[in-house]
Amino acid sequence: MVSSEKTIKNQKSLHDKDKRISALRKLMVYYKEITETVREPFIILNDMLCVVTANAAFYHTFKVRKGETEGKLIYKLGDNQWDAPGLRTLLEHILPKHRIMSGYEVSHNFPALGHKIMLLNARQVDNKQLILLAIEDVTLQRKLKSDSDEVTANLTKQRDLLQGLNDTKDEFVSMASHQLRTPATAVKQYVSMMADGYAGDLTKEQKVLLDVAYKNNERQLEIIEDLLRVARVDGGKVFLDKYSCDVVLQVKKAVRGQAILFENRGQSVVVNIAQREVFALIDPKLMLMVIENLLDNAGKYSPRGSVVTITISQKDNNTIIAFMDTGVGIRKTDMEKLFKKFSRIDNKLSDEARGTGLGLYWVKKIVGLHGGSVGVVSKIDKGSTFTINIPLAATI
Ligand code: ADP
Repeated sequence: MVSSEKTIKNQKSLHDKDKRISALRKLMVYYKEITETVREPFIILNDMLCVVTANAAFYHTFKVRKGETEGKLIYKLGDNQWDAPGLRTLLEHILPKHRIMSGYEVSHNFPALGHKIMLLNARQVDNKQLILLAIEDVTLQRKLKSDSDEVTANLTKQRDLLQGLNDTKDEFVSMASHQLRTPATAVKQYVSMMADGYAGDLTKEQKVLLDVAYKNNERQLEIIEDLLRVARVDGGKVFLDKYSCDVVLQVKKAVRGQAILFENRGQSVVVNIAQREVFALIDPKLMLMVIENLLDNAGKYSPRGSVVTITISQKDNNTIIAFMDTGVGIRKTDMEKLFKKFSRIDNKLSDEARGTGLGLYWVKKIVGLHGGSVGVVSKIDKGSTFTINIPLAATI
């Protein structure tokens, strides 16, 4: 090549380079402006991995100064603090191949800042001459997450432990009740035989004593039955045998069954029905026991001579059975205890009225198994109304 031709070519090449540098400078100003608007730490590197510029968030978060950052190899920033293997892999191996990388996690111990977990988003631009690198410090988030995972794991452990203890207690109650039922039933038989004269004639005094023994034994059996019923429902061993039944019939059965009890207290029961039959998909045996429980409570917590009103209706997709009494009522402050296990609540009649505090707990569970609910409104010394709602979806 002739020397003048060579000179022209060199000059052209220099001119092109100048043009490229000037274009790059313009771009740098553009990127710098964008960079400054970003709140996360942001840094621009050249193709030699030296810092071209960084935003204020970068200087602030990583406690480095502009003067000792720009122009420096990224790994050497802050006395080689940035020489992290993860960062090297990203910049030297991943980016040259893939050009873009998002959510790349780097965990690094910064001597001056401590352990940090960073999420890096990196991208090569302008013919691979520049690398834009956004750095999200997720150390605190990760710590909070790991703390909350730990708390959750601890709570789950505690819950399982308590559940285990509760299961053991339920098993114990169930087993003890079973064990108690057999001898208590035997006592009932032998006391009955004695009362019937199987062991010879009894004096008047002996009869009175035997009657007391009989009643207490009956009470004992009632308590055992209550405990067993609750243990069964708590242990998930109650399975409904549901079919279409007339609820009115069940209510009338319960009223007949307790007629003597009510008569002895001079009380009466009124059954209000809008139609002769109200069919619902229920387990009749269990629902009868639910009705008996609520009717029994309405009577035993009401004064002598009072009236208990049972209303059966169907409304708003529910079959509703309401038990209204004019009894002692329930204090507002006692309402939340009502359906809890073993919660007998003191009232004017609770000494006289026998109970274990298990009835309403069991009632709520059984109605719940039917997909229904139990509600109560009450006024002290005026009376209470307990209402069972069974959804019509369960009604034929
Ligand atoms: P128990 O009758 O065996 O004590 P329950 O679970 O049936 O157990 O009832 C819990 C408590 O709720 C009772 O001790 C009583 O104080 C109160 N209670 C239930 N039904 C009525 C009612 N109809 N009127 C007033 N208080 C009631």
